[in-house]
Amino acid sequence: MATQAQESATGGAATGVIEVHCPADGRLVGTVPDLGPAGVAAAAGQLRAAQPAWEDLGPKGRARHMLRFLDWILDNEKNLVGIMQEETGKSWGDAGLEVASAVDLINYYSKHAADFLADRKVRSWGAAGMTKNLRVFARPYQLVGMITPWNGPLGGPMLDGVAALMAGASVLFKPSEVTPLTWAEATRGWLEDLGAPPVMANVTGGPDTGAAVVDEVDMIMFTGSTRTGRRIAARAGERLIPCSLELGGKDAMIVLSDADLDRATSAAAWGAMWNSGQICISVERVYVEAPVYDEFVSKVTDKVRNLRQGMDEDGSYTTDVGAMATENQLGIVESHVQDAVARGAKVLTGGRRASEGLFFEPTVLVDVDHSMLCMREETFGPTLPIMKVADEQEALRLANDSPYGLSSSVWTGDRGRADRVSRQVEAGAVNQNNVMISTFQLPLPMSGWKTSGMGSRSGGAAGMLKFCRRQSVVSEKVRLKSEPHWYPYKPGSSEFQARMVRLLGAHDWRRRLGRTPRTPKV
Ligand code: NAD
Repeated sequence: MATQAQESATGGAATGVIEVHCPADGRLVGTVPDLGPAGVAAAAGQLRAAQPAWEDLGPKGRARHMLRFLDWILDNEKNLVGIMQEETGKSWGDAGLEVASAVDLINYYSKHAADFLADRKVRSWGAAGMTKNLRVFARPYQLVGMITPWNGPLGGPMLDGVAALMAGASVLFKPSEVTPLTWAEATRGWLEDLGAPPVMANVTGGPDTGAAVVDEVDMIMFTGSTRTGRRIAARAGERLIPCSLELGGKDAMIVLSDADLDRATSAAAWGAMWNSGQICISVERVYVEAPVYDEFVSKVTDKVRNLRQGMDEDGSYTTDVGAMATENQLGIVESHVQDAVARGAKVLTGGRRASEGLFFEPTVLVDVDHSMLCMREETFGPTLPIMKVADEQEALRLANDSPYGLSSSVWTGDRGRADRVSRQVEAGAVNQNNVMISTFQLPLPMSGWKTSGMGSRSGGAAGMLKFCRRQSVVSEKVRLKSEPHWYPYKPGSSEFQARMVRLLGAHDWRRRLGRTPRTPKV
């Protein structure tokens, strides 16, 4: 159903209805309007009208609204997690982590926005700068577009949305058509329950609605597949608007022989299966040094075999791994496992879809190699393919043999070795003896290398300043009637200036004094 907030923001311009079904049991759990280009244009107009007052509030004024939103999220946690669960089929524990991330993001950017956005004084340069004061202002783009995928219905929009709103921009959110209900509820809470300024709108719809968002905004932040990212970058290029892309991944885990195998195997089980593996930075492939390969495989297989699968009751935390979000994604996972088995891989646990619901069993694959889809393409599912390698050089060669470069992990008890290996990994992040954690440390940039992205998110001030334009401001220290280089040019003063250029700019005394240099000998 369209919320009241959505109708007023889009002028009731819906072109159809999108049904949302629960992946765990197929029941209809909600509908949203397919707003299309007309709905997007109406929402964009309203957001632009509201933005100047939002920017005028300043970081502290905006933080007050954001912190009320944080309270609202916590007060409505059960409802939000419940909606998220219904539209994704996640376990309660998996879905709950999105609330934790949302709370963290609001606290971080509310606390630091005033510092991050403060006017920056810059030291002037050269003789001409001696009479000037220089500053750089950070001014938000008026309207930022935010297109997100289905794997994190709350965490996805929040990851960049909080920073953009705190920067002073209005934000046009376009959640995935697969899981639009959670963000519709969050936007409703902001607008209707809190009566907060109308600087966020939720435009629901499919690819056409997403394309219309790119056509309306001043800056586009996209999270999703590499395929769609390419299209968005091309359109942003035509419109000459900046775009920032967070795309797919095929993260490698490198386990060296001196690693703590108990910790590494627990991390591999969680890192590959969290959110049913539907995380861009999930562990997608593992390379283990030969001396510890057998022990690693045996320990991780036990841990994966013992995971409880299903969509648990509200707040009960009785399952670990939930469903896949779509039939299409489940089909990709199934095809990767079948391809691996057909080429000689062995399934140690899991390997099949469930008879009911979009569940795929948590799966461990061994005897895999790089001829297989599961080692080359993004699986985005609950699989853990493990490969034995002779040494760290072979692990690095294989880890880097990928078009993706989002994140990675390196496991060893030796800090020097960890750094040496990390510096050779071709990915935007390396987690040493951990998985995924770099993404949730907001002072660190998350930047996909190769086809995993363009630009970065988070990274302290950079995570907020990416939603701003820099404005250079020069003011005069002293009031002169004119500048020496202005009209009219006169022989005396202009010659004096030319002499000063030489005196202060040349690198040798001969030129400083205006003498002709000797011709260098050949
Ligand atoms: P997708 O690219 O199919 O869709 C993402 C969003 O783009 C959806 O909202 C969709 O409606 C919209 N869209 C589709 N075509 C469009 C177009 N032509 N113009 C504008 N918008 C359009 O991705 P998905 O299948 O929803 O999500 C899975 C992918 O997202 C995986 O590849 C995963 O790795 C990636 N992902 C990346 C990150 C990251 O931070 N790097 C985080 C989560 C997911």
